[in-house]
Amino acid sequence: MAGFAEALAGVERWLLPPACLLCDGPVPARQNDALVCELCRSRWQPVAAPLCGRCGQPALADLECRLCAGWPEGLTRVRSAVWLRGSARDAVHRLKYEGWRRLGESLADAMRGLEPLTGRVSLIPIPLGARRLRARGYNQSERIAAALGELTGLPVRVDLLRRRRETRTQTALTPEGRQANVAGAFEAGLVAGLACVLVDDVFTTGATLAEAGAALHRAGARTVEGVTFARAEPPVSLA
Ligand SMILES: [Zn+2]
Ligand SMILES: [Zn+2]
Repeated sequence: MAGFAEALAGVERWLLPPACLLCDGPVPARQNDALVCELCRSRWQPVAAPLCGRCGQPALADLECRLCAGWPEGLTRVRSAVWLRGSARDAVHRLKYEGWRRLGESLADAMRGLEPLTGRVSLIPIPLGARRLRARGYNQSERIAAALGELTGLPVRVDLLRRRRETRTQTALTPEGRQANVAGAFEAGLVAGLACVLVDDVFTTGATLAEAGAALHRAGARTVEGVTFARAEPPVSLA
């Protein structure tokens, strides 16, 4: 099976010359079959401290964070690797809508140093609804979690959280609308005593992560944290 996968990778390299998917620049041979070149990755802008201890949004220490103040109990810490700008936004788009599932590896690589990943935790990708999963063919968060698991050796559990119902896409909703849209959307499995880290591609208001975190918490998870590759710039009302 490994031989077959290798042969396929060889065919892919031959069909697609080693050019970066995001800038068309060359990808050096030592990066093997990376889809994104080092230059592009170096341009991704880290979400830098000082951050809100809970939601990971840039924050001043003495002000209450308006982003996570209304979150349900459960999720205690979320960290994101980079801002959703420029080629980082491009990378997410291609992973999510253009079928480049192997981009999960490049995204995971940027996330490996995030604080919630330093403990002995289980990685739980945010599940997609059945309809969206059928349409896309794969879950982008699962691709990222699988790659993170490879990089860190942490176990990936796709059996512990499921969508109870389809939710509307969050894109056009206000922060309040987002929270209402995902309320009760998740159901957790046997997570009692487990240290969980949710994995998602993008953090926007955190409503989805907070709701999934609350479900894990109610089911008895010991800790619930989250990591995302990118973080959307806050809308004016939250800045
Ligand atoms: Zn590039
Ligand atoms: Zn916060």
